[in-house]
Amino acid sequence: MDFAPFNQYLPPFEHPLVISGPCSVETEEQVNETAQGLAQDTRVKVLRGGIWKPRTRPNQFEGVGDMGLPWLVQAAKSNGFLSTTEVANAHHVEAALKAGVDILWIGARTTVNPFSVQEIADALKGVDVPVWIKNPVNPDLQLWLGAIERVYGAGIHKIAAIHRGFSSSAPTPYRNAPRWELAIELKRLLPELPFICDPSHICGRRDLLQHVAQKALDLEMQGLMLESHRNPDAAWSDAKQQVTPSRLTELLSDLVLRSTAPTQANVHQHLQNLREQVDLIDEELLEKMAARMNLVSEIGKYKSHHGITILQMDRWRTVIEKWNREGLLHHLDSEFIHQLLQVVHKESIRLQTEVMNQPERKK
Ligand code: PEP
Ligand code: MN
Repeated sequence: MDFAPFNQYLPPFEHPLVISGPCSVETEEQVNETAQGLAQDTRVKVLRGGIWKPRTRPNQFEGVGDMGLPWLVQAAKSNGFLSTTEVANAHHVEAALKAGVDILWIGARTTVNPFSVQEIADALKGVDVPVWIKNPVNPDLQLWLGAIERVYGAGIHKIAAIHRGFSSSAPTPYRNAPRWELAIELKRLLPELPFICDPSHICGRRDLLQHVAQKALDLEMQGLMLESHRNPDAAWSDAKQQVTPSRLTELLSDLVLRSTAPTQANVHQHLQNLREQVDLIDEELLEKMAARMNLVSEIGKYKSHHGITILQMDRWRTVIEKWNREGLLHHLDSEFIHQLLQVVHKESIRLQTEVMNQPERKK
């Protein structure tokens, strides 16, 4: 796929591209005053504002609807920004385009639904407008890819991915767990696709924004979408995660911009040496892992021969305790050890199940 880079359709900007503005457009004054505040910082190039708000439960503020479109477009124009809003159906697309919104984005609750994404894609046929696509609410890379393919199929090349984190049943300090590995995997599959991180919806709270924005830059994302509001605590939606324009400026100024590749020869050489050591250890790890799995299969055959079940709780408990103890000894993170053992054990059970269900060979 042939994606248009940001510099083909956005004004010149220094890395990173910054998109900011309120979660929701509330009133003409609110969006305009927020935009005026943001205009003090030349790094902000795009003004965001939700017009139609997808809310989990009814009877919450669902956005001002169509009447807010000219407020957003005007606030952007008079303060030197492009404008962007979320679209979730064909009507949103038509109304936003008619009002002159410059960039559309598809929200996380829409990316999960191929019917809705297709409806949007159909409404976009023959229109040359940038469309940015948020990850789906659930950690499913195929849905994210599918939405990108559907929009691309409508002839849109000005596409970018927005990483806003994923719902998670596991306890996490975030509103939406970042699951960075999924964003990295999408970048690997679509290397030309421009990437934006949305720390506001990942964090759900102000105090984590700096750390997440920094991490996004360190993972080579080109843009940051951060919600801002003239009076965040009084915001009609997502109050806890919004910041004032002046706090946004502080946050942006505290970001450390690192280069994507080493330029000095000695730095390059040192990195190279360290990476060679890592590669050697990886080879050893894989060799050992193969040896472990061979033994596991052998145990499987033996258990099968003697009519013994795969899972023995006592043995499993002992293995967990041993990994925890040794992990601690080597100063390895306990959550990392836990996850690693789960994966290894799952594969061991799979292998033994396979061995046990193989038809007996005739002697
Ligand atoms: C938003 O950007 O305000 C929004 C609703 O985001 P998401 O689709 O990521 O939940
Ligand atoms: Mn929001």
